[in-house]
Amino acid sequence: MLLQPSAINIRPESRTVLITGASTGIGQCCAITLAGQGFTVFAGVRNPEDADRLALFNPAIIPVLLDVTEPDSILEAQGRIQAMLPEGKGMNGLVNNAGIAVCGPLECVPIEDLRRQLEVNVVGPIAVTQAFLPLLRQERGRVVNMGSIAGLNALPFAGPYSASKFALESLTDALRVELQPWGIEVAIIEPGTIATPIWEKSLKATTEMYAQPESGATLSSLALYEPALDLIRKAALRSAQRGIPPEHVAQAVLHALCAPKPKTRYLVGKDAQLRRILRWVPDRLKDALITRKIGLPGKHSQSHST
Ligand code: NDP
Repeated sequence: MLLQPSAINIRPESRTVLITGASTGIGQCCAITLAGQGFTVFAGVRNPEDADRLALFNPAIIPVLLDVTEPDSILEAQGRIQAMLPEGKGMNGLVNNAGIAVCGPLECVPIEDLRRQLEVNVVGPIAVTQAFLPLLRQERGRVVNMGSIAGLNALPFAGPYSASKFALESLTDALRVELQPWGIEVAIIEPGTIATPIWEKSLKATTEMYAQPESGATLSSLALYEPALDLIRKAALRSAQRGIPPEHVAQAVLHALCAPKPKTRYLVGKDAQLRRILRWVPDRLKDALITRKIGLPGKHSQSHST
């Protein structure tokens, strides 16, 4: 339900937060958790059906149409939210959660899809942050970015996604220091595998992406990767089945928004903790471990003609 700003009555003492990408998964779970903790939640969605569904969970969830890749959409959402806030009140939090996962061999990833990956996961969070910082500054609000363990450790065939999350790590580190003078805390959440629709969406999008005639130039090379891709699909499905519930991430977001001394980064899940250790493993050994774990072809296993 997309209510008119005039129909909304937010109590001046209520804490306010915007969550992008709140239609499903982690974003939806954060919206429900934070609303349950007394926040007024502006929940960013991209279509009215998701708005209707989300508004039913809790009257403190106020859906707002927001596509993080569209400057006009960001501007409009900012205007609507500002119009709903009580006079003189800013915002207490922004959770940059919206994200997609573009996967596939880097030799074959259509460049447009690589650009889209970076637009949604990297440029989007900064564009939204820029638009909302004046309101956050008013309340010494906090920024929470949804990173991933993939932003600390890249996995083969998830290069575009990992690149986006590595970029978000560095942007978060820079922003945290830049916003110190105003007491605006900035944190990044680094979840491992979480049970959300992103896995299915990514597998479906990857299949469709490579079935398109426009990506014809990349298709001839794609056949070379087919055996590896099959293993990757199976590995992705296995991890998706082992994913932990998004509530774990929502608790980390809650801490980052509310704790008197928030952490700068929050690893979520045992797999995230294990994969973090891989950062300190020498590259060649790490490559060998990953190759063996997934069952990928090793060095020189293909002849030059194939
Ligand atoms: P979901 O696919 O369930 O949620 C992604 C959300 O992002 C959806 O609400 C989607 O909206 C939204 N979105 C996509 N593109 C845009 C856009 N251009 N503008 C605004 N919103 C957009 O996946 P998750 O809940 O898993 O993902 C949420 C975040 O968590 C992502 O940043 C992801 O990278 C991160 N993450 C997830 C992990 C996991 O294992 N699930 C692990 C680590 C990090 P719509 O429904 O309209 O497409």
